[in-house]
Amino acid sequence: MTAAPFLPYGRQSIDESDVRAVVEALGAEALTTGPGVPAFEAQFADAVGARHAVVSNSGTAALHLPLLALGIGPGDLALVASVSFIATANAARFCGADVVFADVDPASGLVTPDTLRAAVERAGRAPRVVLPVHLNGWVADPAGVAELARGWDAAVVEDACHAVGGRYDNHSVGACAHADFTAFSLHPVKTVTMGEGGVTTTSDEALAEGMRRARNHGMTRDPARFVSPEQAFGADGAPNPWYYEMQDLGFNYRATDVACALGGSQLRRLDGFVARRRQLQARYDAALADLAPHVRPVAAQPGQSPALHLYAVRIAFAGLGIPRAAAMEALRARGVGTQVHYMPIYRQPYYEGLYGRQRLPGAEAYYDSILSLPFFPAMQDEDVDRVVGALRAVLGI
Ligand SMILES: *Cc1c(COP(=O)(O)O)cnc(C)c1O
Repeated sequence: MTAAPFLPYGRQSIDESDVRAVVEALGAEALTTGPGVPAFEAQFADAVGARHAVVSNSGTAALHLPLLALGIGPGDLALVASVSFIATANAARFCGADVVFADVDPASGLVTPDTLRAAVERAGRAPRVVLPVHLNGWVADPAGVAELARGWDAAVVEDACHAVGGRYDNHSVGACAHADFTAFSLHPVKTVTMGEGGVTTTSDEALAEGMRRARNHGMTRDPARFVSPEQAFGADGAPNPWYYEMQDLGFNYRATDVACALGGSQLRRLDGFVARRRQLQARYDAALADLAPHVRPVAAQPGQSPALHLYAVRIAFAGLGIPRAAAMEALRARGVGTQVHYMPIYRQPYYEGLYGRQRLPGAEAYYDSILSLPFFPAMQDEDVDRVVGALRAVLGI
């Protein structure tokens, strides 16, 4: 008998159609900054029901670009979910803004209006931008967050790196029904990939253009925008053919046409990915029902049909008397890969150096209990059963 294959917590799905799309892009005139970029942006906007989509070379850039377009800078405050990948907070720090971390609901890992309000009270001033995170793929109360943000006169930049393909109330994640911007990552571990890449959606055309300039060094070649006419235009009033203008400090966050070709191909498979993730989620939910209360999925949010990126469970490690690290090692020995998403960002030495030691009770409880189980479209139903069986054995329940 051959050993069952190792199941990582997540894995990309690349098929022949993806390979063909990339090979075709490699044969095109432009490897980067060609027609593949706006084509992919239009396709992405259409897929999530957004007015504008701006592609970049990472989810991190997709979080930084909206803050640049908003002109966030030193002296500004960003209100950030404490349980997320570090990039959510770092985007604000790249701009020189300060970060205040909001606690999360220990059952879902999501910020709530109460935890956001409490963080602002702690900070003693209103934020200019709020960055909620749709952790695992569940959406953090968009209407509640938007209402609070309006009161503070703050913009909302949703980190939806886990949530592409999800829906809540009748809205598609990324349509910006409640947020000013929605940021996605297309890293290989995420639901759709372009190798490395990110997309930011918005309803505001001027802010979309601002993100496109910030993505390309802060440059513009649009004569209508030039502010230095004596350099820009010749004696005949025509723009000088070599001329471009840099008005703000931007970055090279451009995505290549090759990556956009992969992104476009993956996006055509999104519905299939979402359907399979929902089936796997349902199978896990059913199989884990027996393991409650020792093992429970993160709390489902009412009115949502998510396309979960991670299948995360809360485990009462202390009550079971099994350290999480030991459980992870034992699961690994049984071919089951797991991961912890995430240690609260305020615990990172960089942030402790800036803001001191913090322990927010909801984030701590969530962090102590959480474990992401194998979850990717190529998994078989029997793989889910195998994971649940391994959990049962390792936890002794
Ligand atoms: C993946 C991820 C990011 C960063 O995306 P990259 O593409 O790796 O830069 C940011 N936030 C969250 C929640 C993520 O999962």
